[in-house]
Amino acid sequence: MAKQDYYELLGVSRNATADEIKKAYRKLARKYHPDANPDDPNAEAKFKEVSEAYVVLSDPEKRENYDRFGHAGVDGQGFGGFNGFGDLGGFGDIFEMFFGGAGRRRSYGPEKGADIKAELELTLQEAAFGLEREIKVTRTEVCGTCGGSGAAAGAKPVTCSACQGSGQVQFAQNTPFGRIVQSRTCDRCRGKGRIIEKPCPTCRGTGQNRRTRSINVKVPPGVDNGSRLRVTGEGEPGTRGGPRGDLYVYIHVKPHKVFKREGDDLICEMPISFVQAALGDELEVPTLEGSATLKLPEGTQTGTIFRMKGKGMPNVSGYGRGDQHVLVKVITPTKLSDKQKALLKEFAKLGGGHYVSPHVDKSIFERVKDAFMG
Ligand SMILES: [Zn+2]
Ligand SMILES: [Zn+2]
Repeated sequence: MAKQDYYELLGVSRNATADEIKKAYRKLARKYHPDANPDDPNAEAKFKEVSEAYVVLSDPEKRENYDRFGHAGVDGQGFGGFNGFGDLGGFGDIFEMFFGGAGRRRSYGPEKGADIKAELELTLQEAAFGLEREIKVTRTEVCGTCGGSGAAAGAKPVTCSACQGSGQVQFAQNTPFGRIVQSRTCDRCRGKGRIIEKPCPTCRGTGQNRRTRSINVKVPPGVDNGSRLRVTGEGEPGTRGGPRGDLYVYIHVKPHKVFKREGDDLICEMPISFVQAALGDELEVPTLEGSATLKLPEGTQTGTIFRMKGKGMPNVSGYGRGDQHVLVKVITPTKLSDKQKALLKEFAKLGGGHYVSPHVDKSIFERVKDAFMG
């Protein structure tokens, strides 16, 4: 297949300036770049063609040869052996350099450190009213022995001879765009520009080590089991000057002996005697803030729930407080003295001995039968 004319490929005239050629190529390269056309072999072929045309026409010497001898004048000079993008190490970087990050993205900027997870166990009271607590986390810290320099006592880091302290080394690369000088991170000092000849024995020259630190955590009132608190900037250190990550504290609230929690409400169960239930009473009830008095009315049934408004948990977002619900259970006495028994018999004679439902007039046998019949 005859090769297409390079000027035609780029859509420029034969006396186009270097700038016009560059502009035309940029436009076409953007259009046909494999990153923009995944799985399109036609686009990839076209991209190779226009790149090849650009390699030749952007180089004055090659362009002159091409103008005089056509394709024969430049064969094998630039792009001849180009068989795919894998052939060109660092092609992505070059593309990125040309198009300002339109190609493969790579970040060299500061990066935030990793987040850390910690757990905190609280009682219900602590969860209700909030507190400040020191918690211990193990994370990467500046080495205390060398102060982060990584050098042993008395030894000073010396300037890296491979990069003269810049942390970068220059290297030239032959690319489809010609010979390009690029810089990369120095291998010898890993970009630090300095080398530690006598490393600190504590951190082995890294300048950092893992240490356990106490961090003050403020727990707001109303947290629940599974709540997650974020302490900004107390995670792992960032890289290249980036900020520390965050510390996430997961809250566990221990079960309480008396209270069950339902959202912002608390539920507790109170046993009462049948006398209290029948005659009413002032019942002493535990609350988060000590005991309070609940007025039991006469004739309270077992299973009745009384609401104590505003005695529940504070809402963690600050929307007031939940309620406390008191479920009363009437306890039938099991150990009665002879005198008590005699009084109850007296009570029965006065008409209190049999339970007569005001709603159900069927006998108990009829009700059992109904239950079996469905
Ligand atoms: Zn170096
Ligand atoms: Zn050290």
